[in-house]
Amino acid sequence: MNVNLPKIITIDGPAASGKSTLARKLADYLGYLFFDTGVMYRALTWLVLQKRINLEDKTSISKLAETVLIEITPPSVPDGRAYDVWVNNQDITWAIRQPEVDQNVSLVSTYEGVRKALTEQQRRIGLRGNVVMVGRDIGTVVLPEAPLKIYLDASLEERARRRYQELLQRGQKVDYEQILNMMRERDRLDSTRTIAPLKPARDAILVQSDGKDIQAVFQIVLDLVKKASTRKLENYVIQK
Ligand code: C5P
Repeated sequence: MNVNLPKIITIDGPAASGKSTLARKLADYLGYLFFDTGVMYRALTWLVLQKRINLEDKTSISKLAETVLIEITPPSVPDGRAYDVWVNNQDITWAIRQPEVDQNVSLVSTYEGVRKALTEQQRRIGLRGNVVMVGRDIGTVVLPEAPLKIYLDASLEERARRRYQELLQRGQKVDYEQILNMMRERDRLDSTRTIAPLKPARDAILVQSDGKDIQAVFQIVLDLVKKASTRKLENYVIQK
């Protein structure tokens, strides 16, 4: 393997743009750690709901973010999961994907104390290197020094369709319009918040995934990884 490969690769983008699937495949290929930061915001939100803390109570939620131990470990059950997520010795891998978490995670993620606590943990892990880290603010805030930053995007309709199919396959009863509206609202909250909003870093490379399957997107990004190792990225469209 080329020793000059970028040691830190960040992939940011909106919900259901395909970031996690891409990052997991890329990390497997490179022998890197796959780190999905959305899991941390989801696990915290799940805990807030479980403890029945008022969702507007920034202070209590931020305190919880500073003390909670979220563990992400290799998958222990062969049910399609990429990893286990544990909080307080409870396996919450699927619980963090429930609609109630989806509906509230973007609000919890706007709180300054929450972002500070979780960003610190993410940065510590990222700086060890050999990592593909996924989220909304990884290239802009968590690891701005990363040598390769991807911003993966797709239209709202395509992303809602993908999420709809994913939930159907998991056997959940779903309504397309509802998913579309929920996703629109999550995009709005994520991209308009004051701290660490969803946006491409100045030096991120924009990859549009509409109409492309995972293999096609993977090939594009793998090509970028190889070019980054030889510093031949000048010909790509860079987001300003
Ligand atoms: O990526 P995923 O959809 O699992 O993320 C869930 C939510 O967590 C996002 O909608 C966003 O509000 C929040 N998040 C964030 N910063 C990150 C990752 C996720 O604010 N780096």
